[in-house]
Amino acid sequence: MFASLSDRITGSFKQLRGKGRLSEADVDGTIREIRRALLEADVALPVVRQFTASVREKSVSALSSQALNPAQQVIKIVNDELVEVLGGDTRELNFASRPPTVIMLAGLQGAGKTTLAGKLGLWLREQDNKVLLVASDLQRPNAVNQLQIVGERAGVDVWAPEPGNGVGDPVQVARSGVEHGRQNHYNVVIVDTAGRLGVDEEMMEQARNIRDAVNPNETLFVLDAMIGQDAVQTSIAFRDGVGFTGVVLSKLDGDARGGAALSVRGVTGVPVLFASTGEKLEDFERFHADRMASRILD
Ligand code: GDP
Repeated sequence: MFASLSDRITGSFKQLRGKGRLSEADVDGTIREIRRALLEADVALPVVRQFTASVREKSVSALSSQALNPAQQVIKIVNDELVEVLGGDTRELNFASRPPTVIMLAGLQGAGKTTLAGKLGLWLREQDNKVLLVASDLQRPNAVNQLQIVGERAGVDVWAPEPGNGVGDPVQVARSGVEHGRQNHYNVVIVDTAGRLGVDEEMMEQARNIRDAVNPNETLFVLDAMIGQDAVQTSIAFRDGVGFTGVVLSKLDGDARGGAALSVRGVTGVPVLFASTGEKLEDFERFHADRMASRILD
């Protein structure tokens, strides 16, 4: 995903490496190049500004300290700043003190929520949790069936609408699903919700109603890393319309320019907790800012 960005940034370091002493102009040349590379990768402008200002300030101060290997220092500053932009240390999932822990998924249609429900379900089951998936996406005709399929693959149970479970009413399905989870000693209940193709007030309202009905310990916003510049507006709309406590970046295996992945934390202030890297349930991992930064800078 970051091939072009990575080539550009590492290319800009080459100009520094050849020099024994660095001037401010050298640093500025490198920063200009990095700035262009980030903008071309669709990283949000405020994030780019903040990043380059901070790298410049720290690099200029490193130059004045007559450090032994200034080029290496600047490269380290860029690396550290990239880790910072990506969110620093990854925090753990927030578990309820009294089970079940309720995790609600939100995001646009096609973002990868239903797939994520299966991935997260499998991941949590492998850590000895009893997991229930709740099919509150009643928007997409096939969503309930798809959740049942991923649930089966992940080896976790699925609560789907049936007479009495609230056919046609996603809020009622969510509420009865969490209640079923509580009564049957599930540790974690994951509530899949409906998205739309674009940001839509009805979808936001439904998500808010589900949120208020199930009072989640975590609301995870699933963001398709392939959607480029739209990622910023979409993230802000969900943050303000529903609110979320963590981000999951999906489709990081794609060949988009990667700006969404680099912007979402800076734009929303909410950490990225997980990364989805393919269609299979195993293509899923904790998000590590330092590993992502190394992938970009190596
Ligand atoms: P939802 O509408 O948000 O529930 O999205 P889905 O879970 O149905 O995913 C939409 C499509 O994206 C499906 O075809 C998934 O197989 C695919 N998908 C989901 N996550 C990933 C991922 O990390 N990488 C790739 N390549 N495809 C994914």
